[in-house]
Amino acid sequence: MPTKWNECELVSSKEIAPQTRLFTIKLLGDDVFSFKAGQFITFDLPVHEKRLYRWKSYSLANAPDNTNLFELCIVKNEGGLGTTYLFDQIIPGDKLTFKGPEGSFILPEYKPETLCFICTGTGIAPFRSMLWDICQHPINATAIRVIFGTRKMENVLFLDEWRELIKLLPDFQLHIALSRDEELPLNKEKNIFFYKGYVHQIYQHQKLFDSKEPIFYLCGWRNMIDEAQKNLLNLGFPSSHIQTELYG
Ligand SMILES: Cc1cc2nc3c(=O)[nH]c(=O)nc-3n(C[C@H](O)[C@H](O)[C@H](O)COP(=O)(O)OP(=O)(O)OC[C@H]3O[C@@H](n4cnc5c(N)ncnc54)[C@H](O)[C@@H]3O)c2cc1C
Repeated sequence: MPTKWNECELVSSKEIAPQTRLFTIKLLGDDVFSFKAGQFITFDLPVHEKRLYRWKSYSLANAPDNTNLFELCIVKNEGGLGTTYLFDQIIPGDKLTFKGPEGSFILPEYKPETLCFICTGTGIAPFRSMLWDICQHPINATAIRVIFGTRKMENVLFLDEWRELIKLLPDFQLHIALSRDEELPLNKEKNIFFYKGYVHQIYQHQKLFDSKEPIFYLCGWRNMIDEAQKNLLNLGFPSSHIQTELYG
């Protein structure tokens, strides 16, 4: 079947951390934008003659809500063709072309006892979508753990939303690994835990899962995904319990 390309418009883009923006996009026309939490879209950006360099994929960062609006959480890659265009060359009202939604990085049909989301940077985007979706359509996962790696406190994305989710979801914990901050925040918040270093030290503590069989979702760039996947297999978790979304 030929690819269906859609026209959309930039509604707004807002800085949510250094070099990181939340883009709100509107599908043009009367269609409702229908997708599953965890899926992504692909822009065809006018940045190169070869389509390999023009097509840039982004995870949908909001929960499906039966409107024609959607959100993307994007980090600027200095010198990158696609993100330079999105950050520096378009303004609200400008039109873009995209295909999608696509992808099978979605929540399972059945009710897992424990969901463990592991990500770095804007790899948090599909999990933001899934978590708000779970709030609207509870799936009875007993426990949800988000393990989020970034450089510094200023790079932690959506912290206010995680605080809200902690109140809404019955057993939700956020574990944040800061690789470049010398001092950790003095944390007294319920169910938010900070660590120095990388995400890998965190999921290796089995206590995190109360011995229930977790389903892992990994999202981000190759180094983190490769290492986490290798470690989880070494820990004895079956590959069928590990889903990945590789950003590049
Ligand atoms: C399914 C899918 C979903 C994606 N979703 C998102 C998303 O929600 N948010 C998002 O920010 N990106 C996402 N990406 C990555 C995105 O598609 C682009 O690759 C990214 O924006 C860089 O594009 P660019 O044209 O600016 O840089 P390019 O010129 O394409 O970048 C060149 C190189 O830099 C590497 N690179 C780029 N950014 C980083 C980074 N932050 N860390 C490490 N290496 C990097 C790339 O792997 C590539 O090798 C996704 C990718 C895929 C395949």
